[in-house]
Amino acid sequence: MIYLDQAATTAVRREVLEAMWPYLTAEFGNPSSHHEVGEAAERGLTDARARVAAALGVRASEVVFTSGGTEAANLAIKGIVLASTRGRHIVTSAIEHPAVLESCDYLERFHGAEVTVLPVDADGLVDPVAFTAALRDDTALATIMYANNEIGTVQPIAELAALAHARGVPFHTDAVQAAGWLPIDLHTLGADALSLSGHKLGAPKGIGALAVRARIPLEPVIHGGGQERGRRSGTENVAGAVALATALDLVPSSVARAGEVAALRDRFIDRVLSTVPDARLTGSRMHRLPGHASFCFPGTSGESVLLGLEARGIVCSSGSACAAGSDEPSDVLLAIGLTPEIAQTAVRFTFGSEITEAELDEVARELVDSVAAVRSLG
Ligand code: PLP
Repeated sequence: MIYLDQAATTAVRREVLEAMWPYLTAEFGNPSSHHEVGEAAERGLTDARARVAAALGVRASEVVFTSGGTEAANLAIKGIVLASTRGRHIVTSAIEHPAVLESCDYLERFHGAEVTVLPVDADGLVDPVAFTAALRDDTALATIMYANNEIGTVQPIAELAALAHARGVPFHTDAVQAAGWLPIDLHTLGADALSLSGHKLGAPKGIGALAVRARIPLEPVIHGGGQERGRRSGTENVAGAVALATALDLVPSSVARAGEVAALRDRFIDRVLSTVPDARLTGSRMHRLPGHASFCFPGTSGESVLLGLEARGIVCSSGSACAAGSDEPSDVLLAIGLTPEIAQTAVRFTFGSEITEAELDEVARELVDSVAAVRSLG
């Protein structure tokens, strides 16, 4: 099987599993317990927090472990907006993950927030001029994703964060898809808050983190025993935290191959566009995640192409995992200007740094036949 759905999730890496194992067995303690077993777990958590903080260029106290990217984004958006003294206006984009858009919607419905949803261009890029124009004196937060899960487009985060800061507006980025490939330290990005998810990086599902600068007031979303300095209650997932730290330690080796992977991706994209009649790339050609190629194949249905490829041993996706199975066309694809009919024909290939040229050549070959087979059924 060739697995090309890394944007949905990744397998747990061996090094990650080995690092977690002691915290699921001998060192199983509750880090809040004042005995030997608890203290061993506490040491594991402290060490994991320091490593995650180092990867993100923040202080250990600025890392909040969460259950994943969705919770991290919820905490960033609800937490920063509800604690803000500036007002309740939020600036975001039309192609954000539902974790962001639904959090904004919740604040609008229950907390009097006003949300400006910026459109994107045909490549999926936010216009920095429109972004600046949307910022107001009562803007509590600007939240723009680093890289899009469906179309792979990478936003100019450092530029947008600087524009937000020029107006005194805190800036959050959902870096869930970018984390395996692009710089995620808050210094380089100039962001105030950044959300991460372990399962996109070779850690298990159910662990993530929010990095948030100490100067940014944050209202907790989950209340209880006051763990994570009161910002996220609940007994800590020590093994998960160790897994996330270990996965982040391994990221530099995939980043080192990013240029090579981007070259393989470009070759694959060119080959698909030249061999599959009427194929269209979705997302930006230039500003794109290295391991991401997404297309529309007019005259097909994405689901049928996907099933055809699966029968040939190739696993990919017809859109985002969250929208998969839904009959509705993707909001992201509509936002970049595709019609609902074309949006239904989307297929996404996402891969990690271990991808080979031979694998992508095989996928490109099988894709020609799969698309032709679906079109012939008419
Ligand atoms: N943000 C983006 C861009 C994603 O792609 C995802 C997951 O697909 C999430 C947030 C949510 O992360 P999690 O699955 O860890 O809740």
